[in-house]
Amino acid sequence: MNDTHSIWIKDPLAILADGAERGVVVRNGRVVELVGAGQAPTTSGAVAFEAGAHVVIPGLINTHHHFYQTLTRAVPAAMDRELFPWLQALYPVWARLTPESLDLAVTLAMAELMLSGCTTTTDHHYVFPAGLEEAIDIEIAVAKRLGLRVLLTRGSMNRSQRDGGLPPDGVVQDEDAILADSARLVAAHHERGEDAMVQIALAPCSPFSVTTSLMRATADLAEKLDVRLHTHLAETEDENRFCQEIHGCRPLDYLEQCGWLGARTWLAHGIFFNAAEMKRLGKAKTSITHCACSNQILASGCCPVCEMEAAGVQIGLGVDGSASNDGSNLMQEVRAAFLLQRARYGVAKVSHKDALRWATQGSASCIGRPELGEIAVGKAADLALFKLDELRFSAPAIRWRRWCYAARTAPTG
Ligand SMILES: [Zn+2]
Repeated sequence: MNDTHSIWIKDPLAILADGAERGVVVRNGRVVELVGAGQAPTTSGAVAFEAGAHVVIPGLINTHHHFYQTLTRAVPAAMDRELFPWLQALYPVWARLTPESLDLAVTLAMAELMLSGCTTTTDHHYVFPAGLEEAIDIEIAVAKRLGLRVLLTRGSMNRSQRDGGLPPDGVVQDEDAILADSARLVAAHHERGEDAMVQIALAPCSPFSVTTSLMRATADLAEKLDVRLHTHLAETEDENRFCQEIHGCRPLDYLEQCGWLGARTWLAHGIFFNAAEMKRLGKAKTSITHCACSNQILASGCCPVCEMEAAGVQIGLGVDGSASNDGSNLMQEVRAAFLLQRARYGVAKVSHKDALRWATQGSASCIGRPELGEIAVGKAADLALFKLDELRFSAPAIRWRRWCYAARTAPTG
């Protein structure tokens, strides 16, 4: 929404913002006014959009995905496997990705995300077989076509089976090629400022698929170019064992040795950190993306979200790749995170609003975009509007209509 007209999103069925019972006014992509019960906008000339059939929430923000995996959902050879054998079953399939198939996968992933209320997404693309060197450029073109706000990470793998790593030789690149392409992408596409629609971050796949040299060089390059850093960490016990065997330390120690422990970094999963490590993460302002569906499908474990937050760690949500989720539905991920964490911590500690907060303000923190994730004056007008005219929503829809009517007609002053 980049024109100069003001639009009043008027009288929504419900809205996730305090003091906005009669809706919000947006202009030039920003929220400029919240309209309280019994009030009318003070912004002159605002054109009304009748939102009486809609529930309005801040647009959801997805902070971990692998778009290319959308084409490899439910591959029989990968089913009923844990992370490492699951990866080994899928790498040969992913090694055959082409520019055309990636374009299709990205389009499908983004469309699913948008239909589920997502207005900003990240992606972690780290598979670069010959012929797919411009994978991130392909993703950017699709994002621009669909109008989705994106933070695309230039992923990487340079430690293949030949060097004791997990991926086959055909999907990795050498360090110089990775760093040169990372710098090229940031120079060509990374937008700065609060209105940025396309941003780039740097993202080695994981400690078991890249060399220490590349981990360190990537952190240095991110610092130099002032972009964010992302990777998978503490997803499985296998990873702890691998890290001990190869590097003689736990994954977080290794991360710190590589210059990654800081506010620029957000990590996917974060299941196997101990209490002292959570405190170090909180102090360093390193954020965590919780991927509830993927962690359950691969039986990886459960991110200790409440302990993390108590230690000062910001938590966001991510659908993770569709090969370990079967879909890109971010609202479904909100529900999965809510159910998993409520089962772990109980009713008093986890509410549905916590799960929505993780997918909005928490995710905004992960990607360093505080102007996103909240309906408030001055914030981006990234809104998700849901209609409830389906059988499955019938009871709450009727209750909300009654409540909204009462709120609007109540005497004020
Ligand atoms: Zn992942």
